[in-house]
Amino acid sequence: MSNIKDESKSDNTASEDDLEEEEVRSFKLPEYFPITRKTKSKLRSLTAWKTGNRREKMRHKCMDCVKKATEGYISIVLEKNAERLANKDMTKSEFDEARRKLYKQDLEINRLRTIMKNIKDTDVKDVNFIYAFGSMKADIMERDEPALTISNMPLYQRVSSGAQDQVYDHLKSKLRSGMVSENADTQAVKDYRDFEHQLFVTINPTEPVPFLHDVSEGDNDIEVEGGKVSLLCPISHDLIEDPVINPKCGHTYDKTSVANYLRNSNQCPVCPTELRRQDLIEDKLMKQRLVCYARDVKIFKERNIKMDEAEDKL
Ligand SMILES: [Zn+2]
Repeated sequence: MSNIKDESKSDNTASEDDLEEEEVRSFKLPEYFPITRKTKSKLRSLTAWKTGNRREKMRHKCMDCVKKATEGYISIVLEKNAERLANKDMTKSEFDEARRKLYKQDLEINRLRTIMKNIKDTDVKDVNFIYAFGSMKADIMERDEPALTISNMPLYQRVSSGAQDQVYDHLKSKLRSGMVSENADTQAVKDYRDFEHQLFVTINPTEPVPFLHDVSEGDNDIEVEGGKVSLLCPISHDLIEDPVINPKCGHTYDKTSVANYLRNSNQCPVCPTELRRQDLIEDKLMKQRLVCYARDVKIFKERNIKMDEAEDKL
């Protein structure tokens, strides 16, 4: 067991995740390790998780529930505050302040965010574990153990009994404890990032998301004067119904308007970037903005409250 490093010696440095992963990738079983044919055949039938698809579906369902609960909670808070605003128990600036605080300072939202994070972290751990289990299994399957004879018996004796279990346990605990990488490019990590973006626009439908960091997917939020995001189609100048985004420049248009526009042009109506029908994808963040903007309009209208001038123009 000499080539298994003592876990307790590793300290918490920033690059620990990378080192850990490197270590697992290059992890080799002890040179002499009695793997019998029986063990191999048992191992062949084992998979880390046989139900990968079902697991993914379950995670999706869980995340969806948290997302819906979050949206429901935000609606209730806004309605409650709008009620107070209508009854003049609250000023408009107090209403806006309360809304601003929702994203970072609300206990209930932070509780829901923690649940979401836990779902994501569990999934990242699982994905790492499945990966390592697969590579360890491949390692074992490739080994060609010499049959146990009187002459090679000392080699086998180097490994204490139960060594195999120790190797499994070692790897398992390593994966469970130290392998969660925030940078792991798993679907769960992406979904969590989307959740944060969607949460922000659910609270603030016309505010630009201040922390969009996935540049590769285009600059999703384009600010207009006054620091608001326009919900109007740059072609029809009406409220967007079905938002599609040009990933090449990040500008969003209404699907029907852009379909008509494309008959006569292949350039973005806002900037000099190329515009092709086949590039257009659904703009989910804008969709969420529109849904939540409509929610706000309804909440205000039902209570005869005038919306902000800036919001009115939308
Ligand atoms: Zn553009």
